[in-house]
Amino acid sequence: MRARIYPLALGKILHHSISNINQEVAGLMVGKVVSDVVEVWDTVTGSQQNSPAYVKLEESVMALVAEVLLENLPDLYIVGWYHSHPGLNVFMSPIDIETQRTYQAMFPKAIALVIDPVQFSVSWKISDLKIGVFRIDKNKGIVPVRFTLGLQRRKVLESTLIGLQTLDLMPKGPDVKDEELVKVSATEKTDNIDYIVKFFSRAKKLLPGKKDRSRGVDSSKVRFNQEEL
Ligand SMILES: [Zn+2]
Repeated sequence: MRARIYPLALGKILHHSISNINQEVAGLMVGKVVSDVVEVWDTVTGSQQNSPAYVKLEESVMALVAEVLLENLPDLYIVGWYHSHPGLNVFMSPIDIETQRTYQAMFPKAIALVIDPVQFSVSWKISDLKIGVFRIDKNKGIVPVRFTLGLQRRKVLESTLIGLQTLDLMPKGPDVKDEELVKVSATEKTDNIDYIVKFFSRAKKLLPGKKDRSRGVDSSKVRFNQEEL
């Protein structure tokens, strides 16, 4: 099995991990499996518990993302998860192995991406970019997965359009304790979910319909040459 990570997904992982360089961050990877290649088109993040050496994504995030995808972009699904190891290097800890085991139980081809963004965030040299993609075998052994950056033009474009339209599920603003504020924050959270549903739906409209795919994109707004793609 191999993995192919499209540029926008990688960009979002880099942005998320570099902008939180002092703590671990995590998110879900969205895409599809084509023959033996796990394609990562997009990422979505949401509520999580973070520390410099620990991160746990709230389970509700996965349920919500899965539901929204099913409703709006049924061709795409959660293909795995990413998390950062700032300054700790790239490996799978015992907790990571357990987490990956649960992902593979839900989706047998799920992959785990681990990134240590610290050196890269200083030098911006590709050679300093530490990324590993892993799976777990039946004996809980760690199996590295070979990955490439996706450069197939049509898919780069589709994944970029989707990724630009999706919103992360991170709660906005600091934690609130006052009861009244909590009520406001609950409303905001609902609004946030509405936005996500709306944005996913909008992304869907930007993509060619199933019928159109065989003969190229034929929408009034976007037109491409078949030969170009
Ligand atoms: Zn870890």
